[in-house]
Amino acid sequence: MTLTEKDSQYLWHPYTQHKTSQTPIAISRGEGALLWDENNKEYIDAIASWWVNPFGHSNKFIADAIYKQLTTLEHVLFGGFTHEPAIKVAEKLMEILPKNQQKIFFSDNGSTAVEVAIKVALQYFFNKNEKRTTIIAFENAFHGDTFAAMAASGISFYTQAFQGMFIDVVRIPVPIKGQEQTSFDALENVIKNYNCAGFIFEPLVQGAAGMVMYEPESLAKLIQICKDNKVLTIADEVMTGFGKTGKTFAMDYVEADPDMICLSKALTGGTIPMAITTFTQEVFDAFYDDDINKALFHGHTFTANPTGCAAALASVELLQTQEMQDNIERINKSHLTFQKKIEKHSKVITARTLGVIFAVEIKSDSEESYYGSMRTKLYNFFIEKGVVLRPVGNIVYILPPYIMTEEQLQKVYSIIEEAIEMV
Ligand SMILES: *Cc1c(COP(=O)(O)O)cnc(C)c1O
Repeated sequence: MTLTEKDSQYLWHPYTQHKTSQTPIAISRGEGALLWDENNKEYIDAIASWWVNPFGHSNKFIADAIYKQLTTLEHVLFGGFTHEPAIKVAEKLMEILPKNQQKIFFSDNGSTAVEVAIKVALQYFFNKNEKRTTIIAFENAFHGDTFAAMAASGISFYTQAFQGMFIDVVRIPVPIKGQEQTSFDALENVIKNYNCAGFIFEPLVQGAAGMVMYEPESLAKLIQICKDNKVLTIADEVMTGFGKTGKTFAMDYVEADPDMICLSKALTGGTIPMAITTFTQEVFDAFYDDDINKALFHGHTFTANPTGCAAALASVELLQTQEMQDNIERINKSHLTFQKKIEKHSKVITARTLGVIFAVEIKSDSEESYYGSMRTKLYNFFIEKGVVLRPVGNIVYILPPYIMTEEQLQKVYSIIEEAIEMV
């Protein structure tokens, strides 16, 4: 049996209707921005394998750090114990996070980073004897697939089977161009009419919605409204973190600091599943008490896994090299040049760029759904041409690993141009 035949016998894939979906491609090797399948066909990974892999596949520097940690201390429980890798990660993050972030909590993936933030927001007010139970989130948000994260997410086909089983979430419009005041007014109204504990948002770019972008000034204003009303703010930087927007964090563009930040995806350079939620001292202090009931009773078995910590530390060190910063700048410049060219195309509605993130919306005759027919046609075309891109409906985006060469990037652009001609 081939790998794909064995796969269909045993495996259940994420976001997949197995009856109608195509068979998956078996990947056997990766290096830099490239992947090879079992027949040795080469693919350019133009979305960094779901946005996790900025420094390239099979990165030696991170691999060495992992091996060294594996043969020193691979894991130890974090309840009642601590270790140097966790402390080093904390010290490193304190250097680069917004200055008001003072405490870090480890978990395993983006959804749990969000889950922790939402639970902390709710318990923060419980601990203070204030009745605040509503979470505010953006329309079309994506915050993950565990229950609280799912409740905060607004892309309905991910969550429709669970309607009525969620914590209380009220949604406001994203302050995209022309809708800023509507968004501010909606936030003021929600805060007036509900007992709001927290506001969770993807700062500046809504990833899963199709790289929807909005301005830092608008986010600063929304955060200020929350601060004026003592509503906690949660920046979900799971996608945007670690250089994707051109700065270390999207919040670095925003002149207002959030109370909590969620990190995962690129945290370990795409090697080991790990996530972090960070907090202000003020949030931490609401749990600091003689009363054990005020503690945060949340944890995961693999919390602060030392091997994951070693990978995170190596990743952040790579991000901070001049070479990687130059790569990010180069990709951004190329994106802007490509955007200027492509946005004039008669089949293009609009194109946008922030940092290494580029997206183009293609005209379509019918209302294009998330997994609609144009999407399938585009996806198959890219795969056939040896480029991994996962369009969201009629939106094609690129989120390349920072080490992607200029030649590879230009090839991705020209295949996108071909695809626009084709559909
Ligand atoms: C991917 C993502 C998540 C969920 O992370 P998982 O690791 O898939 O659980 C949460 N928030 C944002 C913004 C994401 O992009």
